[in-house]
Amino acid sequence: MCGIAGYVGSGDVVATILSLLLELQHRGQESAGIAIATTDGIIHNIVGKGLVIEALNGSGLSKLYNLSKVFGGIGHVRYATSGGYMDSQAQPVVVGNDEYAIAVAFNGTIANYLQLAKEFELKGFEGDTAVLAKVLLRLARELGNDIVEALKVLPNYVIGGYSIAVLTSEPRLVIARDPRGFRPLAVSISSGELLVASETSALDALGVANWREVLPGEVMSCDGHSVEFTRSSISTPVSPCIFEYVYFSRPDSIFNGVSVYVARVRMGEELAQVAPANGDVVIPVPDSGRAAAIGFSKASRIPLEEGIVINKYVGRGFIAPPVIRDMISKLKYGFVKSSIDGRRVILVDDSIVRGTTMRSLVCKLKSFGAIEVHVRVASPPYRYPCFMGIDIASRAELLAWRVAGVRDIAKSIEADSVGYNTISGLLKAVGLPLVCHACFTGLYPFKGLSVDELEKMFIR
Ligand code: SF4
Repeated sequence: MCGIAGYVGSGDVVATILSLLLELQHRGQESAGIAIATTDGIIHNIVGKGLVIEALNGSGLSKLYNLSKVFGGIGHVRYATSGGYMDSQAQPVVVGNDEYAIAVAFNGTIANYLQLAKEFELKGFEGDTAVLAKVLLRLARELGNDIVEALKVLPNYVIGGYSIAVLTSEPRLVIARDPRGFRPLAVSISSGELLVASETSALDALGVANWREVLPGEVMSCDGHSVEFTRSSISTPVSPCIFEYVYFSRPDSIFNGVSVYVARVRMGEELAQVAPANGDVVIPVPDSGRAAAIGFSKASRIPLEEGIVINKYVGRGFIAPPVIRDMISKLKYGFVKSSIDGRRVILVDDSIVRGTTMRSLVCKLKSFGAIEVHVRVASPPYRYPCFMGIDIASRAELLAWRVAGVRDIAKSIEADSVGYNTISGLLKAVGLPLVCHACFTGLYPFKGLSVDELEKMFIR
């Protein structure tokens, strides 16, 4: 997943980027980084392990704060989808030399990074970030140190999805979204200022009212005086990620003009129609199941109550490295006995991916006195891996792929029943004509590439 941020303007560059990263923390918790370019052509970079508050502090941050002749900067919070976990691939990544250098922060996955590394004869890299940065630098050099032209032709080389911010030593801040527009990116341009964030909610939080979403395939370049707009040279149907609405994005964000919160409530309403359940109370899995539970409760007229309390300090289990995912799923939740005891609980969540969290929640609800637990899921069964920005590279990790049929899934998570939304219910809830839904259907938006070929291509 990951979150990216950027700022060029007369305000406090470091503080602005830090604020944006804090607002994007839900998109990545493994590492964070900031790169600052000064007008004398030097890029200063700090990265660290963990949350923004842990990763970006101390002498490194003071150094950035004390820089003079600051042009602007970019920032990143990381959720690993390629390469090692934690800080091994922290971004921004800086490549180049004294003559011309770039710092790269991106959100997505480059599924064919191993082939690219071979084609461009790259050595000594780990994961797709370094490959992407080195390929971009090479393309820019071949095109006269022109990063805009490099970003325009990049889609001809890449299989995967990306929203990207590139800071150059010229200095210049350039941002782009891949032509299919898998991942979100928003920008605000006003009187010599440019603010960039993965989600609109981060810009709202900073009181920026005049933002707009970067269009799929759009490339924007800011040199501190003016902003130039252009488009990538490839034309293809758009396919924004539907899972951004299901889980990734904050409910107060807008993606492709659609409110994430409204889409989630509608998912719950659709779910109540296609997978009704007999119960006494609707309980959301916090936080990402809450809006869908509101919709389910509204449509079914079964009262909604909070029965699960989240411990926000242990982080998002889904985007945690595997080694601590189980621990998080055990420690993350508390239970309100009065909402649960002696009741038939309808437990609503946004999705079931690996099943780790759901099994533990169902067992806990029963131990707190639920007489039945009926799990209802706002999206269809998640059966296929993602190669465009989620850390699931193999079908073997997915509960709905391993276990056929809802009865067996219910058995495996120890629920009395399980019901899913349908793909048409999900599409109706989001209301966009073209989206990527490959993790539910296996229909990847890359012509001629099947899941088998993509799995072989992308080695994590
Ligand atoms: S496969 Fe799923 S998670 Fe990946 S981009 Fe498509 S909709 Fe999003």
